[in-house]
Amino acid sequence: MTDKRTRTLEEKKERLIRHFISSKTLKTEKVIRAFKEVPRELFLPNSLRDNAYNDTPLPIGNGQTISAPHMCVIMAEILDLEIGMKVLEIGTGSGYHAALIAEIVAPSDEKTSGHVFSIERVKKLSEFARKNIEQAKFSDRVTVIHGDGTLGYPEQAPYDRILVTAAGPKIPEPLIDQLKNGGKLVIPIGGVYFFQTLILLTKDLEGKITKEKRGGVSFVPLIGEHGH
Ligand code: SAM
Repeated sequence: MTDKRTRTLEEKKERLIRHFISSKTLKTEKVIRAFKEVPRELFLPNSLRDNAYNDTPLPIGNGQTISAPHMCVIMAEILDLEIGMKVLEIGTGSGYHAALIAEIVAPSDEKTSGHVFSIERVKKLSEFARKNIEQAKFSDRVTVIHGDGTLGYPEQAPYDRILVTAAGPKIPEPLIDQLKNGGKLVIPIGGVYFFQTLILLTKDLEGKITKEKRGGVSFVPLIGEHGH
């Protein structure tokens, strides 16, 4: 990228951050810092990089999208992430959201055991995400797995936090089972493309589950054994 293109992107990113702070979308210092640190442009196909800081989802191939920046930020704020946490993401897509979360649980300037495991069902996208994650220097903090994320990833369970970035008909049971006591899970639930609600599921220290609605959303469908 030329210096001029990089400068323009930085200005657009700063403007978006100011907008997110004034609209209370960005609330906590750790999420603001992570949003500043992670270059969304590196997670987009070359032809779309100049649009990295437009607040919209963008196509990444195979009929899938990278979520809009505000959605990634909203989910990161709801999850209440801490340094050192082990996080499972279902729906790697471009790898951007996984990197954003990793920059909070395992910041680049700290030595921690925080890690993000992210599952993608489309093989080509899992390869695209791996390449992006490597370019953006997140390979040591994000592991991409190709498979059906509705089954979770029992190999590394239990998780402190789980996020699902595609909308399912219900919360997949394996994900609830793989969440630690004291953990949080966020997932869009509803129809295919329409009438979806973001749900926050919390497991308390005794394993008791509560669910809260966190607003209307629009995601691509979660497809798989416990999906659509
Ligand atoms: N988090 C992504 C990012 O930062 O680019 C955006 C995710 S995109 C909105 C949703 C992704 O979920 C798609 O890449 C889709 O292929 C994937 N997906 C759908 N069902 C899945 C499943 N059962 N397991 C894993 N990935 C799934």
